[in-house]
Amino acid sequence: MGYQAKRDEEHEEHLIRLRQELRARDAAIAELRQRVADLQAVVLGEYENAPLGDLQTFLQSEVVAGAESKMRAAYQSRGRAMAALWAIDRMHRDGKRPNFCECGVAVDKCSARKALPESIVNDLDRWERRELELLKRGVRHQLPEDHPEVVKRRPRYLPRR
Ligand SMILES: [Zn+2]
Repeated sequence: MGYQAKRDEEHEEHLIRLRQELRARDAAIAELRQRVADLQAVVLGEYENAPLGDLQTFLQSEVVAGAESKMRAAYQSRGRAMAALWAIDRMHRDGKRPNFCECGVAVDKCSARKALPESIVNDLDRWERRELELLKRGVRHQLPEDHPEVVKRRPRYLPRR
């Protein structure tokens, strides 16, 4: 084989390898494009029709994680609202003097009492019982820092807020 013929052959082999590489890249790009299309289908709300099991599983876990964190956030903001209502309710319970509110105003004159209807007070009581249960079990609860049961359980060495 002459020198030129050998070089041509080498070039040809090189070209074949390059073509194979390009074909492989094209296939990879096509696959990625398909994945993007699948993701778009998901984004467009065609989640149920989205193919690719792995992708669906992944997205499902993402969707679930998103829903969970939304749920947690909702639970936390509800807890904060309940804790605030609890503090208001605590200041406006029946006082020691008959027919007087804890705040010192006559029961029928206390505007805070009127703003806290029976139904909310009942919800608050239920919420407080549930949170107290969590506190007793040592699980994270949402009772306010100044709740008597929380104060009672606070370690002595921690500064009081
Ligand atoms: Zn009051």
